Amino acid sequence: LLSVADAQQRLLNAFSPLNSDTVPLLNAAGRVLSESIKAPFDLPSFDNSSMDGFALKAEDVTGAQNSSPVELKVVADLPAGRSTLIHLQPGQAIRIMTGAPLPAGADAVVPVEDTDFFGKQSGGSYPGQVKVIKPVSPGENVRPKGQDIHQGDVVLDAGKRLRAQDVGLLAMLGISKVPVCLQPFVALFSTGDELLPIGVELTPGKIYDSNSFMLISLLEKYHAKVLHLGTLPDKEESVVAGFNQAVQAGVDLILSSAGVSVGAYDFVRTVLEKRGQLEFWRVNMRPGRPIAFGNYQEKPFIGLPGNPASAFVGFEVFVRPVLLKLSGMSDWSRATQRVRLADPIQSDGRESYMRAVISRQESGWEARLTGHQGSGNLHSLVQANALLLVPSGVKSLPVGAEVDAWLLNDV
Ligand code: AMP
Ligand code: MG
Repeated sequence: LLSVADAQQRLLNAFSPLNSDTVPLLNAAGRVLSESIKAPFDLPSFDNSSMDGFALKAEDVTGAQNSSPVELKVVADLPAGRSTLIHLQPGQAIRIMTGAPLPAGADAVVPVEDTDFFGKQSGGSYPGQVKVIKPVSPGENVRPKGQDIHQGDVVLDAGKRLRAQDVGLLAMLGISKVPVCLQPFVALFSTGDELLPIGVELTPGKIYDSNSFMLISLLEKYHAKVLHLGTLPDKEESVVAGFNQAVQAGVDLILSSAGVSVGAYDFVRTVLEKRGQLEFWRVNMRPGRPIAFGNYQEKPFIGLPGNPASAFVGFEVFVRPVLLKLSGMSDWSRATQRVRLADPIQSDGRESYMRAVISRQESGWEARLTGHQGSGNLHSLVQANALLLVPSGVKSLPVGAEVDAWLLNDV
């Protein structure tokens, strides 16, 4: 049986990042940069005040104290967004607001709190003179040009998924069109004669198709575009028709649930064996042993197990990294937490992904299993905020043993 790591490697080797595209900045959050971004200019782009106060020459106020203030002549007012051609002379100050450019001749800003103007009403008029009651050092309360970023610096690397702060920085740099990778386009179908769409009444032996909903949600969580081909009956020709539709649509990946095991009606695997290529169809893991990978008319295919918990885990273990690689991401490692078991664990030696709640205790992170871990049971996964990783070869772990946990609630 193939190990999880080997199966992941074989899968990832079969995919490369998609082509790139350009999107308006407002649509860029969540997309992955296809090129690194260099700063076209310094940030800040000019020396500016970090305080509301008075721009001055620091050497003019070296002796300023509450008991012996230094009085300066106020020669101009500089709200944010304005600039002045005035060159400050010794003994002079300019009232300045946060973000306004530091006038020539000034080398520091004294906050309004350290002047006799503190508490006076704001507005257009500024005082003819100001008394400074505290010294400032040269450069104090000034944000110098290039303090944050120098022109030509690489500020965002290719392969990074853009977050709100990344988009904010791109705006600071005036970048309105962003080079990103295309989003993976994935066809999804579920198979099974027992499946009914929600909305109709259940009849004996039937269940609702839940995997489609869960898997579409997962695909969208990882920013894929989904072509939902619905629920296919357990018939070879129906499965073939599903595959053909996916190929025609030009998807990057065909994903299915169920029908890849050893059941008499598991036609997905049969179809692949007959009309495509099957690379592997079983992995040494729990839940989720029946995971198929291959291709159908050159289109890569991943067949997830039908059992809902297995389908979920199979997705997180195998489909997620594929989607992230296709999306152009350079790093698909996951948020993990080392945790100490508060419940003992029994396994069967397969690499196991156990549903658990992890919580921070005084002694550190602790994990408790959530309910029945059967592969058909979704409630224990719903209650879980983590999956505990039990390595292959391990059949039991006592209370107090440490394992890695994958966080499920990170967004
Ligand atoms: P199979 O892989 O076809 O042997 O299915 C394994 C188990 O998963 C069976 O109990 C199926 O009824 C169940 N199952 C298959 N497809 C779905 C689905 N789309 N939603 C919920 N359960 C499913
Ligand atoms: Mg089935």
